[in-house]
Amino acid sequence: MQFVRFQVDGEVRYGAVEGDRVRELLRPFVECVMPMATTYPLDDVLLLPPCRPSKMVCLGVNYRDHAEEMGHDLPAEPVLFLKPATALAGPGQPIVYPQMAGRVDHEAELAIVIGKRCRHVPPRKVDEVIFGYTCFNDVTARDLQAKDGQWSRAKGFDTFGVIGPWIETEPGNPDRLAVTCRLNGEVRQHSSTAQLIVDCRAIVCWVSRIMTLEAGDVIATGTPSGIGPMEPGDEVEVEVEGIGILRNTVEAEREKGAKPARVV
Ligand code: MG
Repeated sequence: MQFVRFQVDGEVRYGAVEGDRVRELLRPFVECVMPMATTYPLDDVLLLPPCRPSKMVCLGVNYRDHAEEMGHDLPAEPVLFLKPATALAGPGQPIVYPQMAGRVDHEAELAIVIGKRCRHVPPRKVDEVIFGYTCFNDVTARDLQAKDGQWSRAKGFDTFGVIGPWIETEPGNPDRLAVTCRLNGEVRQHSSTAQLIVDCRAIVCWVSRIMTLEAGDVIATGTPSGIGPMEPGDEVEVEVEGIGILRNTVEAEREKGAKPARVV
C-alpha cells in the first residue's frame, strides 16, 4: 500500500493511494489507518513529504560500489549523520542550490520509515517498527563536505532531505531493489540494495542502539556509485524499484537569500 500526505484547500491531509485516486484517512497513517469516504484524483492533489520526521538519520559509505568509487576500504560500520527536520522537502518541491555552495550533488537512496517509537530493537522485532519505505535524495554540497571535514553544513541546507512521493509498505524484498538516479532523463546512478554493506533490517537495529527512533523518522540507507553534480534548472529523479519516482527540479537560491524553510 502507498501512503501520502497531501494538501487540499490549504489543509494538510493523509491518504492512501488507490489506483489514480487518493482515499483520505482520518488520522496520520503512522498512528492508525482509518479510511474515510472521500477520495480525490491523485493528479489534482499537491503531494507533500509523506511523513514529518523528527530527524532524518542517514548512513554514509554503505554501498560496496560507492565505497570503491570514493576510494574507501569497506568500513566495519557505516558513517552515521543527521539532517535537520528543516531540510525536509517533498515530491515536486524545488531543491534550492545554496549561494554558499560550489558543487551540489544528487545521492539516490532507499529510505526506511519508522512506524513506532523504539530503542534497542532486536532482530526478531524489527519488522514491527518498520512502517514502510520511500525514495530519498540525500542532496549534498560536495565542496563543503570536503572543506568542513564533517557533514552538518554540506548535508543540512533547507531542501537537502528530499523524500517521497509516498511510503510503500510492500516494496518487495528491501534488500533486492534497483535504485536509479536520472538527471535530465539521463541515468547517473543505477545499482541495487543488494550492494548494501549493512542491510535494511540490520540498519534499524543498529541505529536504535544509538538513539530513540520516533514514528515518522526516516533512515536513509546510503547511496550507490555514480554521484554527481546538479545545476539550477536540472530535473532530478530518484527511482526505487517497487516504490516509485521522486522528481524535483533544482533552483538557485535567490540573490537576497531564501525565506525560512516552509516545511508543511
Ligand atoms: Mg547519502
